[in-house]
Amino acid sequence: MRPYLDKRKCPAVKALCKAIEVCSRGAVAYVEDDAEPLGGRIAFDHERCDGCGLCSTACCGNAVEMR
Ligand code: SF4
Ligand code: SF4
Repeated sequence: MRPYLDKRKCPAVKALCKAIEVCSRGAVAYVEDDAEPLGGRIAFDHERCDGCGLCSTACCGNAVEMR
């Protein structure tokens, strides 16, 4: 299983992101992206991810689905 983000539920604020905080594998990151309304998005590196699901449990907006 790997995490997938529902961007509609995610404020994409690095300082608030619990998913970045809890991932011990450094597989969650904030990426600047001018195409996004707030100038950035939360991104998952599925290669680094071990599927632990902690980011999904900790997500502040219930926006991370494991599948
Ligand atoms: S914890 Fe979840 S909803 Fe909050 S910023 Fe991170 S990915 Fe988005
Ligand atoms: S499932 Fe675990 S390893 Fe994968 S991104 Fe989330 S916290 Fe990191």
